[in-house]
Amino acid sequence: MIQLYQPLNFMGTLYRETRQAIVDIEKMFAILSQQPEIADRPGAQDLEVREGRIVFDDVVFAYDSKRPILQGVSFTAEPGATIAIVGPSGAGKSTISRLMFRFYEPQAGRVTIDGQDISAVTQRSLREAIGMVPQDTVLFNDSIAYNIRYGRWDASMEEVREAARLAQIDSFIRSLPDGYEAQVGERGLKLSGGEKQRVAIARTILKAPPLLILDEATSALDSFTEHEIQEALARVSRGRTTLVIAHRLSTVVDADEILFLDRGRIVERGAHLQLLEKNGAYAAMWRRQRQADEEGARRGDAERRE
Ligand code: ADP
Ligand code: MG
Repeated sequence: MIQLYQPLNFMGTLYRETRQAIVDIEKMFAILSQQPEIADRPGAQDLEVREGRIVFDDVVFAYDSKRPILQGVSFTAEPGATIAIVGPSGAGKSTISRLMFRFYEPQAGRVTIDGQDISAVTQRSLREAIGMVPQDTVLFNDSIAYNIRYGRWDASMEEVREAARLAQIDSFIRSLPDGYEAQVGERGLKLSGGEKQRVAIARTILKAPPLLILDEATSALDSFTEHEIQEALARVSRGRTTLVIAHRLSTVVDADEILFLDRGRIVERGAHLQLLEKNGAYAAMWRRQRQADEEGARRGDAERRE
């Protein structure tokens, strides 16, 4: 029995390690592939953000020509406004944020910021103007302080701490034996999804960019942490043009405009109450989530009574 067990056990370890290596390679590839693909055009000018108006004008995009992803997406985010993008998983929401950050370029249509086509400006100036809190943050293999300061290299330690405090992560960091010098990333301390996201929020607060993209990935978090992150995100987006990709509709009720994306098309748009009144896809999704929340709360109550 032992003889049979050991090779199996070994296979299990090998399997787990191989899987982890694949995950690491995927992450690395995700970072690397997003850097060099798109180069500045000769004579590209720096982006000049004046008011912060973002326009998607009939944007068409596919990762691979056989499968269209965005099929003519148009919207305008007025200066300082918050535009929410909601819809089923796989609809193309995160793709919109990737085009905005110019990880990819549209096959047709264009994206402009204050009238400047983002494909004609320098990559560096575009990325300086945008703060992005992605769906899953990959941290650098370095200290937490380094990971936050990445938002603005000349920030003082005091400013780093202040940003962490606003992102509700300062007391967690101070509870670590090495505090702000704690090593994180693949080879360091493994932070939870919510902790990594708060590090990314702290980085963005420090960077204080005029434009923001928030790809919320808070559905897996407990509701207390989610609430804290929501508050931190709301604080960063005040006064800045913000695209927020929301998985939980309760977080977008205050958005200036909500776009409901389905299979690469905006099928409904409007403010929360308008969309409820319309009684279409958004309203149905809202009711489904409300019901799930209420069931969750009832289950919680029942457990507490036991
Ligand atoms: P959402 O954020 O709405 O869940 P995404 O924008 O991430 O959706 O993805 C839209 C579609 O594009 C999905 O079907 C997804 O599988 C596909 N997709 C996403 N990233 C890539 C990629 N790098 N290469 C090929 N297909 C991709
Ligand atoms: Mg997504």
